[in-house]
Parts: sequence; C-alpha cells; structure tokens
Amino acid sequence: MALRRADTISQLDDALSDARRGGQRIGCVPTMGALHAGHTSLLDRARAECDLVVATLFVNPLQFDRADDLTNYPRTMEDDRAICERHGTDVLFCPTPEVMYPGPQLVTVDATPLEGFLCGATRPGHFRGVATVVTKLLNLVAPERAYFGQKDFQQLVIIRTMVRDLNIGVEIVGCETVRDDDGLALSSRNALLSPNQRAVAPLLAAVLNDTSSAVAAGNGDASKLIAAARATLSAEPQFEIDYFEIVDPGTLEPVSTVTAPVRIAAAAYLGTTRLIDNVAASPPD
Ligand code: AMP
Repeated sequence: MALRRADTISQLDDALSDARRGGQRIGCVPTMGALHAGHTSLLDRARAECDLVVATLFVNPLQFDRADDLTNYPRTMEDDRAICERHGTDVLFCPTPEVMYPGPQLVTVDATPLEGFLCGATRPGHFRGVATVVTKLLNLVAPERAYFGQKDFQQLVIIRTMVRDLNIGVEIVGCETVRDDDGLALSSRNALLSPNQRAVAPLLAAVLNDTSSAVAAGNGDASKLIAAARATLSAEPQFEIDYFEIVDPGTLEPVSTVTAPVRIAAAAYLGTTRLIDNVAASPPD
C-alpha cells in the first residue's frame, strides 16, 4: 500500500477507516521527525507486528522548555516522508500545532512523582507536554500497539505508567537504542553537532557502558560510581554534564547501593546541543 499523508484529524480518520472497520491491528510510532535509524527500527518493528502502521510527525511545542530549542529543532519533512515510504509505513500523520492545539490546552497529563528526576529536574513542564501529546495521539490513532525507544528512558517509563494508570487501551512496546558504530546513540539532535563535538560525543555512551560494567563487576556504591563517571566526562572540556544518575528502573528514584537491576542515565551538553543516553546495569548474582 502506498504511503498516505494525513495533515488533519479528518484526513487521519479517512486513512484509518478501512483498517478500523476491518478490525486490523494498528501500530503507531510517534516521532518529532528528522528520522534516523533509531526511528526506522521502531517503524520496522511496527511493520513486522501490525497490519497498518501509522507514523506521527509532530514537533510538539508543549514539550519544549526553551524557545530556541523549538526553533532550531531539525525539520526534514520530505526526507522523512521518503524514509517512511521505504520502511513500509501506511499512514504519515503530520498535524500542525493548530490542528493539535486549536485553543489553549486546559487539560494536561501529569506524572508528577516520575517527573522530578533525570531530565524532568532541569526541564520543567517537558514531561507534561510529552504525556499530554502522547495521550492525544493515542486517542486520535487508537492503535493496538505504540512503539517507543529506550533511548528516552524516562519518557518510556512515564508513558507506560500513564497508560496503566489511565487505563488507555494500548500496548506500549519499548525498543532497544540504536547506535552509531562508535556507540553514540542516534538522535535527531546529533545533526546539530559540529565535527569537533561529534568526535567527542561517543564518550557519553562509553562512560555509561564502563559504569554498567563496574556495576556488573560488583561495584555497588552509587556515589563512587557517579563520581568516577563524572570525572571521566569532565576530562573532556567540551562536555557540560547536566546529570549522571543511577536510578530504580521503575520509580526513577536514585539508588545509593546497587542491589538489583538499575538504569544508568546521563545528559550532557556539547555547546548548546543536549545529548541524553542510558544503559541497563545489574549487580553480579
Ligand atoms: P523523537 O523523534 O526524538 O521524539 O523520537 C521518537 C521515538 O524514537 C521515541 O520513542 C524515541 O525514544 C525513539 N528513538 C529516538 N532515538 C532512538 C534511538 N537511537 N534508538 C531507538 N529509538 C529511538
């Protein structure tokens, strides 16, 4: 089937009506565009598991806490369309902000207990924007499954919890982080890095992996692990660390001693570009 583009809610409903009537399994991949192999891994998984695949492409103003970040966010609509086509996507929903927010958004979705950690600590309102737009997209597409990357771990935890606590009838599928050969997690923001910044960027993933290996080797003192990681990252003067944390993978609360599986998550700036990444870690048996 050829890719159908829907810009409005009624075009989306038209594009989905046959699938809905036929009881087809709809899969949804929400994105902000500037698609890369991380996104296409989600599209491919949806293609393999669902009858009809809907990609959504919406740079959501509600989740940006800095106006310059929203302005500078890469937008590559024509490339994105071709990528969706190549990966067998059926419907590309690209609403404008006016379609998604025709008036003030008076009702929003908060996951307050999960928002104070990691990215939420320095990006006030970000996850309210994410949870609200994902709720709207899930209501509009009404998929059986929706696909999200572990790259945005806090986002994945918040969306899983939201779907559980608000009884939204969708299965959330969390997908592995796709990386460049040198370990850097793929991100639309990588396009904004200068060659010098791009050259040092893989250090973030390397430090996360080293910390995960240290945990696996039996080092469970989180403050020592974090101090060592921060020291290694700080040795590269281009990096400005936002956070480096070892957290419970369900509650996102920091752990002091690693006695069970954890998530190690970090955010750091290279110039004005903010990179995030995370890995799993488990203590020895
Ligand atoms: P974004 O367009 O950045 O909002 O991302 C859309 C979806 O793609 C989110 O579920 C992200 O977690 C996921 N994603 C982004 N980068 C990657 C990656 N490197 N590997 C896997 N999934 C990713």
